[in-house]
Amino acid sequence: MNPFRYERAADTQNAVAALAREPAGAYLGGGTNLVDLMKLGVATPELLVDVARLPYDRIEELPDGGVRIGAAVKNSVLAADRTIRTRYPLLSQALLSGASGQLRNLATTAGNLLQRTRCLYFQDVTKPCNKRRPGSGCPAREGYHRNLAILGASEACIATHPSDMAVAMAALDAVVRVQGPDGERAIPLVDFHRLPGEEPQRDTVLAHGELVTSVDLPALRFATCSTYRKVRDRASYAFALVSVAAALDVEGDTVRDVRLALGGVAHKPWRATRAEAILRGAPATAETFSRAADAELADAQPLPDNGFKVILARRVIVRVLTDLAERAR
Ligand SMILES: Cc1cc2nc3c(=O)[nH]c(=O)nc-3n(C[C@H](O)[C@H](O)[C@H](O)COP(=O)(O)OP(=O)(O)OC[C@H]3O[C@@H](n4cnc5c(N)ncnc54)[C@H](O)[C@@H]3O)c2cc1C
Ligand code: SF4
Repeated sequence: MNPFRYERAADTQNAVAALAREPAGAYLGGGTNLVDLMKLGVATPELLVDVARLPYDRIEELPDGGVRIGAAVKNSVLAADRTIRTRYPLLSQALLSGASGQLRNLATTAGNLLQRTRCLYFQDVTKPCNKRRPGSGCPAREGYHRNLAILGASEACIATHPSDMAVAMAALDAVVRVQGPDGERAIPLVDFHRLPGEEPQRDTVLAHGELVTSVDLPALRFATCSTYRKVRDRASYAFALVSVAAALDVEGDTVRDVRLALGGVAHKPWRATRAEAILRGAPATAETFSRAADAELADAQPLPDNGFKVILARRVIVRVLTDLAERAR
């Protein structure tokens, strides 16, 4: 591991100022991703600014009926929170489907959003990788890509974003609040992560030194009828091949409203806006659900070894919506 300096931030201003002074610095949350990448030589920060003890460890109700989740709230605490479990069950389920109990006890909300891809080549410094070393190439296209993207990929990179939590938050229209040297800003979660394009080294729209302080969940009455389903190679302790986060509002036999997002299929949590447009106002039937899934996946560009994901995603979307429609009736 490269030598690095460590500072524990006393407050937000102190944290932001420390990174503003150090272009090769990084914030440290629970360390469950960043420290692993440092051991592998993939991340080589010269300064770590520990922000896990800043006062962002609360889950608060907002006056408009939404909920604010502090950036330092641990994944296990968020998953177990009574408000989250009852009002946003898909988020609790997504968190509990990720990693292990020990990891969730350390992992923070901000760190989870900002964890990096699990593409094998990204984690292996002996291999080229455009995300780790821009311009070096993407061996995954011709090599191992069974778990990589089918939607929104580019010639430069076909990585997927590994977070389960972020997929549920994308479905919920969450908003990420950040503090930078030039002040605060709020970024809709669906715009927070990027597609790879020509700059796969940039996972998000954050500028260097911007600190995530919280994530706001808007009020969503029908999120009580929601679920997160994750398909993976083994029953636990594995990243998603495909996951679906969904909330459904059915009146009579008609879909009144819906939120749908996919994980394991793209460089970012994939909000299924095409499917949602077909579903709203349509009969809550298997035929509609299949049509919506097909529309969402119409632009999928699988490679030889991950074509199964298109079929899998279609089936999981239809299954999840069918189950939620039965529950909603
Ligand atoms: C074996 C294993 C299995 C796993 N399985 C899953 C899984 O199935 N599903 C899943 O979703 N995840 C899984 N994970 C990933 C785990 O969820 C992440 O490692 C964790 O959420 C990262 O959170 P952290 O607080 O430890 O982040 P850190 O490692 O501390 O940081 C991650 C990144 O976030 C940045 N950062 C941290 N806090 C802030 C902040 N406030 N503002 C700006 N930047 C910040 C850091 O600089 C770093 O770039 C797994 C991890 C392991 C090791
Ligand atoms: S898919 Fe992306 S992360 Fe993986 S090797 Fe290619 S450029 Fe690197």
